[in-house]
Amino acid sequence: TLSDRLTSVLTNLRGKGRLSDADIDATAREIRIALLEADVALPVVRNFIKGVKDRAKGAEVSQALNPAQQVIKIVNEELVTILGGETRRLEYAKNPPTVIMLAGLQGSGKTTLAGKLAKWLAGQGHTPLLVACDLQRPNAVNQLQVVGERAGVPVFAPEPGNGVGDPVGVSRRSLDEARRAQHDVVIVDTAGRLGIDEEMMKQAADIRDAITPDEILFVLDAMIGQDAVNTAEAFRDGVGFSGVVLTKLDGDARGGAALSVREVTGQPIMFASSGEKLEDFDIFHPDRMANRILGMGDLLTLIEQAEQAFDQEQAEQAAQKLGTGQLTLEDFLEQMQAVRRMGPLQNLLGMLPGAGQIKDQLANFDEKSLDRIQAIIRGMTPAERADPKIINASRRQRIARGSGVAISEINDLVNRFFEARKMMQQMAGQFGGFGGGGSRN
Ligand code: GDP
Ligand code: MG
Repeated sequence: TLSDRLTSVLTNLRGKGRLSDADIDATAREIRIALLEADVALPVVRNFIKGVKDRAKGAEVSQALNPAQQVIKIVNEELVTILGGETRRLEYAKNPPTVIMLAGLQGSGKTTLAGKLAKWLAGQGHTPLLVACDLQRPNAVNQLQVVGERAGVPVFAPEPGNGVGDPVGVSRRSLDEARRAQHDVVIVDTAGRLGIDEEMMKQAADIRDAITPDEILFVLDAMIGQDAVNTAEAFRDGVGFSGVVLTKLDGDARGGAALSVREVTGQPIMFASSGEKLEDFDIFHPDRMANRILGMGDLLTLIEQAEQAFDQEQAEQAAQKLGTGQLTLEDFLEQMQAVRRMGPLQNLLGMLPGAGQIKDQLANFDEKSLDRIQAIIRGMTPAERADPKIINASRRQRIARGSGVAISEINDLVNRFFEARKMMQQMAGQFGGFGGGGSRN
């Protein structure tokens, strides 16, 4: 899958200190293959790769992220962009009813979606009316009636002898009915064919002309792979649409359709359908889809948090002090607070891929000991933090009282601090600072 592929590509970058152009090219090549394997359309792949490459090459060296994380971040952001960035909401008509027409191939999930959308709208206080304009298949009207009943939304359908063969007439009359019975949204289900055909397009276009919908939603089965682009283009040219709904995202869709359709048609994906039940429906979130495609879920959250928590200037200062062995307790506290801002350590570690195996160890980690260290340092005066040597017995007593810890804990902290600082001074002497060297143990 795409996510597996990306994960292995990015794992190769993990050990690198900095991205070279050759690294970026090699990575881009892998991502390209991965996207093509996921059925993303070629022109879309080209665009995407170009975007990622340009950004990766121009990227500043980040203090907060390692190269692999940086690439993940860029790939993710480009994915979100290509998926439409912000979620586009339904636009309601100034003068109700708002008319929503569904179009798409047979089996794409229109009728199911009609029910989902109706239920969702009703849940938000709207009073939708479902309209059966698929008069092609013998059972289609009945299917919509069943769906409507489940959703608790009325269905407007032709009666025997009135409009049975006339979907355009039914659609037109449904608007009168909506006004009469004060439905503020009308959802028109239409017929589809297994393949794209002229007659079907014409029928859909005729319905469109009869009811001038506020939204035409193109319903697309996310599992149809490379065909997604052809189908979307045919519907764009034949009927036109203002938004896309992706269905069957619960299947093992590789995400390619989602990536392609938005880019090729320029229309936003608005809703996502992920199961046969009426509840399996949600507004489409580009960021979540990108997550799904990348398959790195929480890792992205982790990267975001790392960036937020990381104050570059502060880190540079600390690095300099580390190099010269001038570390103070003040720096120590700042560093610790930076880590704390990333959230409880257990959560943080839990987000790392593969952290499952070390869960038991994580469970034993004592979050409270960090709290205590922080409390101790907070209880010190600035002078004490800058030069812990001055912390004599009476000062220790004062700090202990102020921060509610035992004097022995303060002794521990101060002793460990001195040891750490001594070690750093030795190392700084040996390697001329931390910049290029790294530790020897
Ligand atoms: P239509 O021909 O476009 O109206 O498509 P239908 O609404 O009749 O759906 C065709 C089939 O796909 C039905 O068996 C639905 O239950 C199923 N279906 C629709 N949406 C989804 C979905 O999001 N996930 C899954 N797994 N099945 C779906
Ligand atoms: Mg149908």
